Amino acid sequence: MAIERTLSIIKPDAVAKNVIGQIYSRFEGAGLKVIAARMMQLSQADAEAFYAVHKERPFFKDLVSFMISGPVMVQVLEGEGAILKNRDLMGATDPKKADKGTIRADFADSIDANAVHGSDAAETAAVEIAFFFPAMNIHSR
Ligand code: UDP
Repeated sequence: MAIERTLSIIKPDAVAKNVIGQIYSRFEGAGLKVIAARMMQLSQADAEAFYAVHKERPFFKDLVSFMISGPVMVQVLEGEGAILKNRDLMGATDPKKADKGTIRADFADSIDANAVHGSDAAETAAVEIAFFFPAMNIHSR
């Protein structure tokens, strides 16, 4: 399988729960490397732009409010099959449906406050990584 990069966000609920380190351990335990990272407070415009694909969905307004409710930890993960591997670590969007042992099963409270974001395909990963990180801040190793 090819080496891929994916964008991960630890959302405000998980940052508030102080589980950044526990989530990073899962990435590292699965062979994913953190090759770029920044903690930031998203503005409303940032969150609306990042989730523009969902702007017609009924949950869009609440999703944007949630994503700006506190700081997020944003990172680029690199490794073999990183996109799917991260999605597997995350678990289903709704934590009630997420497999046991996944990040969302263990740390998320609800379908909206669901602890993490992860790119869902190579094309979206490229767009999402570029949204947060200039190439000079990504350190493949
Ligand atoms: N979301 C929500 N209500 C829903 C579906 C999604 O609040 O009914 C939020 C949730 O935070 C989710 C995000 O919108 O993570 C993006 O939805 P998507 O279907 O892309 O899920 P993901 O790829 O994050 O699993």
